[in-house]
Amino acid sequence: MSSLELATARHAVADACAVTRTVQQRLGALQALTKDDRSPVTVADYAAQAVIGLRLGAAFGSFAMIGEESAAALRAQAGGELARAVADAVRTVCPGVSDAAVLDAIDCGDHDPAQATAIRRYWTLDPVDGTKGFLRGGQYAVSLALIEDGTVTLGVLGCPNLGADETRAFDDPDPVGTLFHAQRGGGAWCGPANDPAAPATRIAIGTGRVLRDMRVCESVESGHSRHDFTSRIVAHLEARGMPARLDSQAKYAVVARGQADAYLRLPTSYGYVEKIWDHAAGKIVAEEAGAIVTDIEGKPLDFAHGATLTQNRGVVCATPAFHAAIIAAIDALMP
Ligand code: AMP
Ligand code: MG
Repeated sequence: MSSLELATARHAVADACAVTRTVQQRLGALQALTKDDRSPVTVADYAAQAVIGLRLGAAFGSFAMIGEESAAALRAQAGGELARAVADAVRTVCPGVSDAAVLDAIDCGDHDPAQATAIRRYWTLDPVDGTKGFLRGGQYAVSLALIEDGTVTLGVLGCPNLGADETRAFDDPDPVGTLFHAQRGGGAWCGPANDPAAPATRIAIGTGRVLRDMRVCESVESGHSRHDFTSRIVAHLEARGMPARLDSQAKYAVVARGQADAYLRLPTSYGYVEKIWDHAAGKIVAEEAGAIVTDIEGKPLDFAHGATLTQNRGVVCATPAFHAAIIAAIDALMP
């Protein structure tokens, strides 16, 4: 893996973060324009994916990417308000790019997961992870990772509302944001989200922590992780403190930088299978900072099965001192 890939990914994610910020500032106007509460996040999703597609395309020519979005719906209503809003947002960081090039860039991420698995090397992207957080003005993330032979080898996580100041509340958006990155074996790093050229600082999980003081984080959405089960695990381990709740893969970053000791994602149903783009970048950032990341049975997350983590259920990302105890607690308490 080249440093060109890392530098390109960091600049691409920073540009995508800038676009999502722009869309967020126009939230009210966009909602009025489209008469739909959810459309601003749709504009941000498409625009961020287009920006990443354009940047990776400029650096590498052709590449494979499994992204969350495809331009099919925009093509179906070409010239419509949504397509225009997306292209306008993209042009705030890619001036002069045509509407057609924006649609093609979105479809760079429309790679067939089966084919991508066959070629063994592809990017995965969640252009706006934590859409509910984005709409609430809370945490969200632009998440880009490289998967090679079923292993995540590079991850860049842009958290536009998560600042360097760890005392700031998660629902109080930071004006700068943080750009996290990690390469396999190279440690985890962070820098300001608005300046990917600035020197990065190495981050690491908390050390010298005792179980009694364990700080856990989880999804804001109770439909994405069982809050009641988290509380029971925390009580079982006789740990103090309420779990911190925040949206998106910013949870992995919060553990990576030692602000929390564990991120628990406890399945709410048997039917749900986790998507690779919801975990790839966050997992490598947390692991390279020293955390252990597994599913709720303690098995490594297995990225060798296309777009979904079919072999896993839930996620436990924790400092090594607590990981085994959490898995044992889940096993003991699981209904
Ligand atoms: P979070 O920010 O932790 O609430 O996670 C957001 C992600 O949860 C979204 O990107 C969705 O892909 C994913 N998601 C949607 N439904 C579920 C579900 N039932 N269980 C777990 N994750 C889900
Ligand atoms: Mg997501």
